[in-house]
Amino acid sequence: MITITGKSVFGGVSIGKLSFYKRNQKVIKRTHVDDVKAECTRFQGAKASAIEQLKGLYDKALEDVGEANAMIFEIHQMMLEDLDYIESIENIICAQEVNAEFAVATTADNFAQMFSSMDDAYMQGRAADVKDVSERVLNILCGVDEGMNQTDEPCIIASDDLAPSETVQLDKSKVLGFATMYGSSNSHTAILARTMNIPAVIGLGEELRPQLDGQMAVIDGFTGKLYIDPDEATLAEMQEKRAKDLAQKALLEELKGKENVTKSGQKINIYANIGNVSDVGAVLKNDAGGIGLFRSEFLYLENDTFPTEEQQFAVYKQVAENMAGKKVIIRTLDIGADKQVDYFGLDKEENPALGYRAIRICLTRTEIFKTQLRALYRAAVFGNISIMFPMIISVKEIQRIKEIIGEVQDELKAQGIPFKENVETGVMIETPASVMISRDLAREVDFFSVGTNDLTQYTLAIDRQNSKLDEFYDPHHPAVLSMIRMAAENAHAEGKWIGICGELGADLELTEEFLKMGLDELSVSPSMILPLRKRIRECE
Ligand code: PEP
Ligand code: MG
Repeated sequence: MITITGKSVFGGVSIGKLSFYKRNQKVIKRTHVDDVKAECTRFQGAKASAIEQLKGLYDKALEDVGEANAMIFEIHQMMLEDLDYIESIENIICAQEVNAEFAVATTADNFAQMFSSMDDAYMQGRAADVKDVSERVLNILCGVDEGMNQTDEPCIIASDDLAPSETVQLDKSKVLGFATMYGSSNSHTAILARTMNIPAVIGLGEELRPQLDGQMAVIDGFTGKLYIDPDEATLAEMQEKRAKDLAQKALLEELKGKENVTKSGQKINIYANIGNVSDVGAVLKNDAGGIGLFRSEFLYLENDTFPTEEQQFAVYKQVAENMAGKKVIIRTLDIGADKQVDYFGLDKEENPALGYRAIRICLTRTEIFKTQLRALYRAAVFGNISIMFPMIISVKEIQRIKEIIGEVQDELKAQGIPFKENVETGVMIETPASVMISRDLAREVDFFSVGTNDLTQYTLAIDRQNSKLDEFYDPHHPAVLSMIRMAAENAHAEGKWIGICGELGADLELTEEFLKMGLDELSVSPSMILPLRKRIRECE
């Protein structure tokens, strides 16, 4: 038995034969052509056929994985219509009197290199897309057909990497799982695998050799392991794990597309908490109504230096676009306390949880705050973004935040940079102070989201990081529940909506209590969406 460890992009267990993805090796030769006009027409014909194929792929993806994920094939169509791209190909054909294949391959390389050398991670990712669309045109020009090995038996698809178009074209009924040598968890392919509900492990490295084609294998998408030629004990263990997982998923699957409604008709929104773009696949897969908390500080934690406005803009835009009009609540950075980043140069503190963190940093180091706000207001043009502020304790803070937003908007206006002016704003209710002044705060903002993790810590004076205090950390404490009730009453008295985005929102023992309080939303980790929907539908 060979065991290879990679990165899991989607949970689940699959057992079957490994089948290496077949790619025809085309050799693109440079040949002289006399009639450059006819060659340009040949290219235009291939481009038109490629666009037709992409339209078909869009429709297939729309059905399989939803609009947000199908979008990539619309982007590919746009790339093929891009004037710079077309001009480059036709210029090469005409100026060098060469064949269309050579012109397309050269342009693809040049454009991919240009994208890869950009600073922006999102633009770097476009290098793979330009290669993918060009490959499609080349296949048409060369009359090449690619895809899965022709076999009737469902199998685990193995490959060096899979392009989004390759992934969506696979016959889903014959794919048990994906195993790739390379790939990033943020790639569209990873998102598609998650959305298609297919166990997938990427980044397995070169131990995954084509010589293993046809061998029996097991993907454990929970641990990111691939077992090749598994021994009896491993196989039995994996079969049991798979059966359990399938039973649980089948039960919850029935709830997809259903409303979050109690027996007596009370409705509530269920949104998801994320920390990264790569979580969006799980949000969609689990049928969340939106994103209730995007912990934007993870962007800062992953970096060695401050993420630039462009980097942040690309991430927020991508999340908003992938969610295709559903609400995306992005929390401004909550650095400090347990989330330390060296490049912020924060002093060591006696009581970090009570110290210089979150909005306190933003209001005193406004250059950091403004960069994030600029990225957020710009990205808001591309979807349904709301902005939420953490650790609020006073109305004065909200008023100061509004002044800074005003300055940011004036600057963007003066620079002629597009942004959305009226973005819904809210505050996190996670300090006892914010609960006590919640009526006043509700007049200033559009919504509240209760951060029960910190609210419990500050209400009970118990450090949430200290495992010795676990037995005292009681989020069901009547004081905590009264705080939530009070904030809900005050929000509603001012006609504002309120949700919970702390861990307590997913506590199924409290669902009924939250419904009684009239909460409008619960934001939980993606895997808790369907169990929570189930619980809500059982409530009177
Ligand atoms: C909370 O405090 O409940 C919350 C959602 O924020 P975080 O856990 O990121 O502090
Ligand atoms: Mg918090």
